Amino acid sequence: MPTTGRTLLWLRRDLRRADHPALATAAASGPVVPVFVLDPGLLEQAGPVRRGWLAATLRALDTAYDGRLCLRVGDPRAMIPALAAETGATAVHVSTETGPDGAARDAAVRSLLAEAGVGWVETGSPYAVTPGRVVNRSGEGFRVFTPFLRAWREHGWRGPATEPADLDLVRVPGDPRAWALVDEARAACPVPLPPAGEEAALDRWAEFLSEALDRYDGDRDRPDLAGTSGLSPYLKFGVVHPRTLLADLAGHAGAGAERFVAELAWREFYADVLHRRPDSLAADLHALHLPYDEPGTGFDAWREGRTGFPFVDAGMRQLLASGWMHNRVRMVTASFLAKDLHVWWPHGAAHFLDHLIDGDLASNTHGWQWVAGTGTDAAPYFRVFNPVSQGERFDPSGDYVRRWVPELQHLPGALAHRPWEAVDGYAHGYPERIVDHAAERLESLERYRQARADTLGG
Ligand code: FAD
Repeated sequence: MPTTGRTLLWLRRDLRRADHPALATAAASGPVVPVFVLDPGLLEQAGPVRRGWLAATLRALDTAYDGRLCLRVGDPRAMIPALAAETGATAVHVSTETGPDGAARDAAVRSLLAEAGVGWVETGSPYAVTPGRVVNRSGEGFRVFTPFLRAWREHGWRGPATEPADLDLVRVPGDPRAWALVDEARAACPVPLPPAGEEAALDRWAEFLSEALDRYDGDRDRPDLAGTSGLSPYLKFGVVHPRTLLADLAGHAGAGAERFVAELAWREFYADVLHRRPDSLAADLHALHLPYDEPGTGFDAWREGRTGFPFVDAGMRQLLASGWMHNRVRMVTASFLAKDLHVWWPHGAAHFLDHLIDGDLASNTHGWQWVAGTGTDAAPYFRVFNPVSQGERFDPSGDYVRRWVPELQHLPGALAHRPWEAVDGYAHGYPERIVDHAAERLESLERYRQARADTLGG
């Protein structure tokens, strides 16, 4: 029998219980049915790595919700209105989605619910400041990061939401196939997954605060060190909210804390840019009309980590083997594809999304556009990363390269970055360099110069 006053809490990118504004609002109006809908279309798109991570996260979420997570399979446009009718829910509570697909889906569900007389309540979002809210004096969004950062700080954000004291969670049976699908996806995940769930995320965060925050400003660019938080997979599904992190950081002074706030702001900036320019998912934010090369054998070598450039290959193999890549190496590998191989960034972005546990449309798309020189970078024209000197600078002892490229394990120290200078550099099957970086750099600059001249001249 339906009970009046029940609410549905439809969870999507907010898979946690703590600091959950939508949960707090839902609980204030009555008993709560927590629900997650496995959308087969989205699952297909996610690929085995992110499917596996979502599956592990959902298991942990069910535990956090006292085994009362109602898991259904199907198109949410059908499932949510049906579940609202089945449970007699008076309202559906969600965290606001501002990405192009999520926002369109929500608009459709919301209007179907309205026809059935069921309310729709949005509280909070996966960001400290909901995308679209940071504006300049003329009410416009920002195209470059630094002024966004200033305005984002000025806008400010609320403190963490308190957990409802007497939360009444209602158990509604899920789809019998759903947990089987989850366990299959988890078992089929091709990379080792980090511990799932908010307790694991908060443990990771506490460890980072006590052991690495003070050195973060200096170490964050070093892929050979454990210098970053490793929180991106948890932020991806909202297992931890950025406001929780920002509130904790308020108690820490120093360059490390400052820098960490700025890194979180990059995530917010890119979500804001994507919200304002949904077309930028598949098109250059600033159309330069650069001539690109079709992905060919060079693209295959890049994907497989066989370019002959150790730092690039280490990154690409780290991605395949672990589902994650260090930020500095994401920049260098992306630059190599865009500026040494002249391949259009969406090809690389799609490969990253297929393999990253933390694969996120906004951060990935605009991380790629920034490196490719088509996005939000204020000075992209002359930035071509040197894949060798970047490696020597940020992996000075070659440890990172040797960790991921076994054919170079015999080379001592920084020599791992230059196998061509060692007598036995290629003794274990490491491939020769597939391009001449100096020549491709000039080619890239020439293509930019020509494209800019055509654009400005035209
Ligand atoms: P930390 O250094 O501990 O940073 C803390 C958090 O700040 C991160 O978890 C992340 O949420 C945010 N952050 C840090 N740097 C950036 C940045 N440059 N852009 C946006 N947010 C940032 N990040 C993703 O979460 N998903 C992606 O799909 C993704 N794709 C990227 C693709 C390219 C080409 C590039 C250059 C960057 C990409 N990033 C992406 C950003 C960044 O590389 C990762 O967020 C970071 O490496 C995650 O590791 P961490 O949590 O240890 O980072």
